[in-house]
Parts: sequence; C-alpha cells; structure tokens
Amino acid sequence: MAMKKITKRSWAEPYKIKVVEPLKMTTLAEREKAAREAGYNTFLLKSEDVYIDLLTDSGTNAMSDNQWAGMMIGDEAYAGSKNFYYLWDNIKKYYGHPYFVPTHQGRAAEHMISKILITPGDFIPGNMYFTTTKLHQELAGATFIDVIIDEAHDPYSEHPFKGNIDIQKLEDLIKKVGAKKIPYVSMAGPVNMAGGQPFSMTNLKEVKKVCDKHGIQLWFDATRAAENAYFIQEREKGFKTKSIEKIFYEMCSYFEGIWVSAKKDLMVNIGGIIATKNKKVYEEARNMVVVYEGLHTYGGLAGRDMEAMARGIEEMLDYNNLHARVGQVRYFGEELAKYGIPFVKPIGGHAVFLDAKKFLPHVKQDQFPAQTLAAEIYIDSGVRTMERGIVSAGRNKETGKHNYPKLELVRCTFPRRVYTQAHIDVTVESIASVYQKRKSIKGLKMIYEPKYLRFFQARFKKI
Ligand SMILES: *Cc1c(COP(=O)(O)O)cnc(C)c1O
Repeated sequence: MAMKKITKRSWAEPYKIKVVEPLKMTTLAEREKAAREAGYNTFLLKSEDVYIDLLTDSGTNAMSDNQWAGMMIGDEAYAGSKNFYYLWDNIKKYYGHPYFVPTHQGRAAEHMISKILITPGDFIPGNMYFTTTKLHQELAGATFIDVIIDEAHDPYSEHPFKGNIDIQKLEDLIKKVGAKKIPYVSMAGPVNMAGGQPFSMTNLKEVKKVCDKHGIQLWFDATRAAENAYFIQEREKGFKTKSIEKIFYEMCSYFEGIWVSAKKDLMVNIGGIIATKNKKVYEEARNMVVVYEGLHTYGGLAGRDMEAMARGIEEMLDYNNLHARVGQVRYFGEELAKYGIPFVKPIGGHAVFLDAKKFLPHVKQDQFPAQTLAAEIYIDSGVRTMERGIVSAGRNKETGKHNYPKLELVRCTFPRRVYTQAHIDVTVESIASVYQKRKSIKGLKMIYEPKYLRFFQARFKKI
C-alpha cells in the first residue's frame, strides 16, 4: 500500500475550545429576504441571520479563560479601581508610555486627541486614512493628507511594508503648508484600508527623524501594533531573533503618544487607550475624559473590562498566538488564490481584501461593486463581509461628490480565536461559487445616505 509522504509540518492554534456558541443555519430564501430587508448593507443584517461573521475583528474576538476569570474580579469602585492600576502598570511595561487615560473605545480616544492637538486649519499627514481617525481629525478642523507610499494603492504590489510613509511626500507637505500647520503625523500599522499592511521599523525611524527636524509630534494608532511587530519580526532585516515584546516596545518608543482600540489586538469586547510621554497632553486628556467618558480611572469602562484589557495585553504579544492569528488569515488567502480569486497582496494581518473591481469588472464604481459583492457572498452562504470602497470613502468635503478611491475592496476579517479551518473552507468555497457566476451579477443603487460614516447605515436597491 502506498503511504503518503510527509511534505510539511502544519501549525495549529495554541488553545482549545472550551465554550461554544451555536449558530443558526439559514436557507437561501431566508438570506435573500434578510439581505433585501437590510438594504443590501451587511452592517444592517441581524447577526442572528449570519452564519460566519467576517464583518470585523473589532470586539468580536474570543477572550481566554484567563480574561474571563479576570472579569470576576472587577473592582467596580467609581474611583481608583485596582483594575485601572493593573492596566496602567501593563501599559507602562509593554507600551512604555508613562501616562494613561482609559476610554470606552478607540474613536473616543481619537476624538480627544484630535480636539487637544488640532487647531482649525491644520493638516494631518497619515499613512492612508482610517474612517474614524480621519473623521475626528476633520471634525476638529484639520485636513487629512495621505502620505503613504504609492505601492499601498496598488493591490498587486508585493512590497513587504506597504504601510510605510513616503518621506518625500511628507517633506513636500511640510514645505508646502509649513510645520506650524502640522501639529502631528498620524501613523497606523498594519494599515487596515491598505489591506492590513505593516510599516517597517526603518521607515518609522525615518519618519521620526523628519518629525524631530521640524518640531512635529508623531502619534501612533497602535490598535493593531502587535500584528505590526509580528510582521517586522518576520520580514525586516535584523529583527528575526528579537522578541515580539521587544519589537513592540521599540516601535512604541518612537512616538509622542498612542491611541488604541482595545477591541482588536487586546481581544476584549470593549475598551480604548490613550497613552503618552507628553505630560501636557496627558493632563488635558485626563481632564477632557471626565466630560465625554467618565472619571479618568474608568473612562467609560467597567472595572472588569479594564482587567480583561490588562490581561489581553499580555496575551496579544505571545508569539504563538500571533502566529496562529496571521497564519489563519494566510491560509484563507492561499486557498482563495487556488480558485484565481483576485485579492490584495501580500495577504494582510487581520483580513483578506477581495478586489471587487477585478471580481466584477462590469459593475461601474458608482454602482458599488464592493457593496454588491459583499451582499452576494452573504446571500450565497450566510458569510458576512464588509465593503471598503466608494461607500466607505464618503463624499468630498468641498464638492459634495463621491470620493472615488483606487481600491474597491471587500474585507473578509477574521476575529481572533473564533473560527476553525472548516469555517474558512466553507467561506472560500462560497466566494468561489460567487466568482463562478460573477458575470450574471448586477450592481446596486443607493437609496438612503446618512451624513457621517455612511457605510454603516446606507441602504441600497438592486439595479
Ligand atoms: C477600530 C479602529 C479604530 C476605531 O476604534 P473603535 O474602538 O472602533 O472606536 C481606530 N483605528 C483603527 C486602526 C482601528 O482598527
């Protein structure tokens, strides 16, 4: 009898399943009805009607038994709870910034940082935009300027660090508007909208040098920073033998301050962080949080949430955990590639972004190809994904016309520690089925459009 030869040694998750949440199985007719009622916007579906939920990895991660145990020792004192101090200790230890203000989630931190640092008329350069980040900068009166390298806008460039800032673009902006009009450079990594693409430590150091030369602060959206550290270790010369913890610490050290949505890498359901070395900014944030969130020792969170965050920081920097996380996303992408399905390269840290322009080349951009594709995938199998294209890009502030982004993507995002390889296989096969019948798919028409972050609530009709 022929025996199969060993050609590889697989990795597997460094955890096992202890609690399960049963999922509802739906029929095609039920999903067609649900999609219609949701205005073909996956954000408006009831989660009950979703089988595999790849909408986001935000607040949807599985906490560990250790985090759940921490929830039981929540100190729900109004002021000075011990969970707050434990979290603060871990922020100092791992992020290395001495001052800390908790917020209920990332955008609350963005709101306050934007309000504190921006004077109306300012410009904020950043490595591509993130929806809430950019909106809060604009609401504070600034204009956001994308200074990411050109490769980030090319879905097929295999550049290992597509999250890098283009130093020349940054210098040009400084020359054009003057350093006084740029209170800070806003850096994120891996860059969600570019396909989950990291920046390199080398690039970060160059950016820091430019900032120092012109007296501009450098701030970090560190929401996915653990994943960025993983990619630096994997891809950048000189970091192979450095621990994730050390790389993470070094990365954070170049910034004046950071904000974080704890709902991602920290693997909790809710939470946000502002941490900084800048005492003045800290004091303003500590005062402002009382107005918008709650006292500065809870910032809109329960004590138990802060305990789960503190423990989440320790877990997110574990190499095996990150390896399984990134490995799962990579497996998904590699399986999709076997069917010839077009997606952004290289495969990102938290998600695979399908290229809807290539997937549905006959659907014009103002007929919302990515929105259409996300709806079709849901109808096919109950897998929920999200649009990252023209709907997410919103309208131009001056002209009121749609922004037409180069990238028209559908994001398939994997919550951490939630789904199995079989779930991934089902998803791949569903997307492949939609791909096979792509020529028969027609676009959508927008019939309701909210003023802010329209992708969350817009409604559509089939053409
Ligand atoms: C999710 C996210 C935010 C916003 O955080 P919320 O907790 O959703 O308010 C900001 N920046 C990045 C990079 C994110 O991924």
